[in-house]
Amino acid sequence: MRLKLSGIRDKRVLAAMEKVPRHEFVPDEYLYAAYEDRPLPIGCGQTISQPYIVALMTELLELKEDDRVLEIGAGSGYQAAILAELVKSVYTVEIIAELAAKAEKTLRALGYENVRFKTGDGYFGWKEESPFNAIIVTAAPEEVPPALKEQLAEGGRLVIPLGPPQGVQTLWKFTRQGQAFVAENHGLVRFVPFTRK
Ligand code: SAH
Repeated sequence: MRLKLSGIRDKRVLAAMEKVPRHEFVPDEYLYAAYEDRPLPIGCGQTISQPYIVALMTELLELKEDDRVLEIGAGSGYQAAILAELVKSVYTVEIIAELAAKAEKTLRALGYENVRFKTGDGYFGWKEESPFNAIIVTAAPEEVPPALKEQLAEGGRLVIPLGPPQGVQTLWKFTRQGQAFVAENHGLVRFVPFTRK
């Protein structure tokens, strides 16, 4: 991938970014921009995130090969593919059925078999498959959905943009230590709103 991933140091993350073909997740009319470092429309008013932000959030998750990871907001499936390169099992929830179906098809066509999809409201996480070692949210709610904290394993990492739906949000990382969550601020970001059914 022709990307300047400045500041990203995790070699496994950089290798996954090199490997996953982003053009497979982008609509035909935006193929020319598939390897530019910017978000692109994917239909249904949603976007595939900017590659730098995908890499940053993935690095913050501190993934180990045996980890179970939950993603909220499958969108195009691109972030899920990056996660699938790095861990044993990926679970992803998408509220728009049409996007979930398309993303699943793309991932199957590329041979990823360690990603499970669910259509529904990610506000509730995926209780049956919890606990997760890492949770990534790729749409922005104003506050952390309580279920996501509950479904995080001891030592688990939650990476999530929080803020007003129309505007700029803050990227947070929460690390679970017992019943406490250590918060780290990772700067300003802009995500699509976290919607509810
Ligand atoms: N990770 C995606 C980015 C998609 S944009 C990618 O790599 O392409 C964020 C996605 O979150 C959108 O598809 C949107 O429909 C979805 N979303 C918004 N609110 C949601 C919710 N409550 N539960 C699950 N998905 C949600």
